Amino acid sequence: MIRELTEAKKNLQRNGFLDVPVNVNLDLFAEIERLKKEKNAIVLAHYYQEPDIQDVADYIGDSLGLSQQAAKTDADIIVFAGVHFMAETAKILSPQKKVLLPDLKAGCSLADSAPPELFKKFREKYPDHIVISYINCSAGIKALSDIICTSSNAEKIIESVPADQPIIFAPDRNLGSYLIKKTGRDMVLWNGACMVHEIFSLEKITRLKVRHPKAKIIAHPECEAAVLAIADYIGSTTGLLKFSERDDAQEYIVVTETGILHQMEKNNPNKTFIPAPPNNACACNDCPHMKLNTLEKLYLCMEYEEPEITMDEQLRIAAKKPIDRMLEISAQYGL
Ligand code: SF4
Repeated sequence: MIRELTEAKKNLQRNGFLDVPVNVNLDLFAEIERLKKEKNAIVLAHYYQEPDIQDVADYIGDSLGLSQQAAKTDADIIVFAGVHFMAETAKILSPQKKVLLPDLKAGCSLADSAPPELFKKFREKYPDHIVISYINCSAGIKALSDIICTSSNAEKIIESVPADQPIIFAPDRNLGSYLIKKTGRDMVLWNGACMVHEIFSLEKITRLKVRHPKAKIIAHPECEAAVLAIADYIGSTTGLLKFSERDDAQEYIVVTETGILHQMEKNNPNKTFIPAPPNNACACNDCPHMKLNTLEKLYLCMEYEEPEITMDEQLRIAAKKPIDRMLEISAQYGL
């Protein structure tokens, strides 16, 4: 095992995780609980993680909730079951803590659609604008931003900026267009998109609605405008979950990543949730990045404390400023 482990450490960057065998007889749920206690570790899981990971997490949430949780935990180790930019955000907020990500390759097409060197040049074309960036971006983009926002608080963040102050919104053009409509602010948009939310099929959703006429369509604002136009409710992942709890319909067509259905079904056992189909042969829409994390990889990263997220201190300080601003504005509005 020692030789296998040494080899796996050498290949960590290439594989994204410590690729050593896990005993199939291990009760991974119990092992993860043991490791949490022994190492004073906390597991944060995004709603798009597989159900088993959600079930062992200490906190399940979307980007805002997870970043707030990362900021206030007193654990020594934060295990971030999500994608790379989320674990980076935890590191930015908690530099003294060890931050682990089950698979380093769990990236994000939206974050990747905004390379910092190109964005810096783009920003220079608009010297009078401030930059509001959606939290789904790299630390490099955060460091070039004035305020971060999430899909839960974006409207309030934009409204908190004086009306005569021009704004660049990055990196998601669909969320940006939706926010232009909602707030009436004429923002300059960076042309990025999420590969998961962009490929929902308007035609297939319309057909589903014909078969389930009483179902409400609930959608994430990262979806394209044509899909949002037929939605009964638009909101962040947490917003969709809360809506499904307070609303009195019995059936919902859920237009976001399928991972959220686990909490929706747990919290509303008598309601039916139908995942919206994408524009390909699949019946539902999983984020391939989020789903790189598995219970085995979660266990391995806790056991061996790798892969770890590390960051240059100057970059961390620059990336923290706009997140702090977001957390301040969110606190002002009680979000
Ligand atoms: S669902 Fe989209 S925005 Fe979220 S991690 Fe996956 S690619 Fe990125």
